[in-house]
Amino acid sequence: MGKRRQAPTFLLDLPLMVTEGQAKHLRAHLEAGRQFYNAVLSEGQRRMRQMRADPVWQAARAIPRSRKPERAAAFSRLREQYGFSEYALHQTATALRASWIAEHLDAVLAQTLATRAYHALNGVCVGKARRVRFKSRGRGLSSIENKRNDTGLRFVLQSPEEGNQGFLMWKGDALQALIDWNDPVVKYGLAHRIKYARLIQRRASSQRAAGADSKGNRYSVQLALEGVPHHKPKHPVGSDTIGLDLGPSSVAVVPREGEASLAVFCEELKPEAKAIRRLQRKMDRKLRAANPENYDEQGRIKKRGKKKMVWKSSTSYQKTRQRKAGRERKLAAHRKSLHGRNVHEIVAVGNTILFEKISYKAWQKLYGRSVGFRAPGMFVEMLRRTVASTGGSLTEVPTRSTRLSQWCHGCGKAVKKPLSQRWHTCPCGVGPVQRDLYSAFLAAYLDPIDPIPSCAQYVIPWEGAEARLRAAHERVHQRATEGHILPRSFGRARAGARLPGSRSEPTQEPSFLLRRGKLEAWTER
Ligand SMILES: [Zn+2]
Repeated sequence: MGKRRQAPTFLLDLPLMVTEGQAKHLRAHLEAGRQFYNAVLSEGQRRMRQMRADPVWQAARAIPRSRKPERAAAFSRLREQYGFSEYALHQTATALRASWIAEHLDAVLAQTLATRAYHALNGVCVGKARRVRFKSRGRGLSSIENKRNDTGLRFVLQSPEEGNQGFLMWKGDALQALIDWNDPVVKYGLAHRIKYARLIQRRASSQRAAGADSKGNRYSVQLALEGVPHHKPKHPVGSDTIGLDLGPSSVAVVPREGEASLAVFCEELKPEAKAIRRLQRKMDRKLRAANPENYDEQGRIKKRGKKKMVWKSSTSYQKTRQRKAGRERKLAAHRKSLHGRNVHEIVAVGNTILFEKISYKAWQKLYGRSVGFRAPGMFVEMLRRTVASTGGSLTEVPTRSTRLSQWCHGCGKAVKKPLSQRWHTCPCGVGPVQRDLYSAFLAAYLDPIDPIPSCAQYVIPWEGAEARLRAAHERVHQRATEGHILPRSFGRARAGARLPGSRSEPTQEPSFLLRRGKLEAWTER
């Protein structure tokens, strides 16, 4: 299998204006697509299981990886024998489509669905995924795409003389897209060649939401366009080098030149997460009330062994579940926008970024819920993409070699601090300094090529940074006295906690607004 070099692709989303009649057709097509996908997936899964049960499969696995050609040939013979390949599933798809589904699904769409099913199965086959997911009626098939834009599901753009409108054509329906020609991103995108179109169905908050059909779905077309995405000039890119310290609920940002900051990560999400938990509890109560026979005297769910439990759910339970799902979607969207804002604020200062690699799995175990709703892993991914798109570099240094949270640049010793100890204060004279800010400072001056900290490299930077770190903590402290609730990890003044001695010291650095709105509030009040 030779890999074709593909031209770069970028995506553009356009909302569709769909009449109730058109929506009905779309729902029927997507439902047919869902059943079709499940049928191909099921057939593929059957073949994969047979293939893996063959003793020859075990023999092929036993061939050492060093004998690559031999191993590959053994696997490819098996795949051919059992019909487990993208090509073979395409043939299955053609045969399956011949029945009633043909009126809903073009041949090419059937093929892309078969490809999708094959990739899902192959993920399991090569050990990248644990299992495949069949599409349930409730969740449905939320998108369907073509491979080309000349037949079947396709997007047609009128010339300016004809009216400049765009339509997604599918099976006799022309679904009008909402095109804002004043949006530079839209204008730029539509000037490029369309490779193929994808129809996307998303849940709206309710049936009454703008653009939603009678089942509470919204539709949009996603165009795969040839070229590179439009670069929005509204996000400036700085030239500083920045060290970060990511905690499960906090982020410390220390640039080499600019102002340092310590902030709660996604603080604004708290009330939403709380509301979701309330709805979850409500659902639990309703489920319990409707199914008392499924719980034992102590209120635990009974174990039934192999027998499947039957759960009744009331209409009001379903309603609460929908409300919760709506809230969750809102939370996810809000979180994404907060992450985006944070990322752009950081990149505006600089696009050379260093931080210690974090273990999300370990965090999840330690802090659970807090990590779940703030999603620091997603934040790091977004930062990585943005930094890459600006030509900068993001370096994750392995914790084992650096141990920034334990290390002291004054004496070079690494002392393990308990989590409760939020200050770095060393007998050698360094500190007191808030520990997250201190590790971010250490990260900022690491050499990306050889990220091992040495005492000598920090002597001069520390002279300039100590006051900046203190100022950053000062602002947190000020916020706390204004009544904001902050995590304990910020090391605020509590009984017995030691604060930096010179609280009256004026802020020496010129005002550098990293978190604009907030910082102004902190300094001016
Ligand atoms: Zn020390």
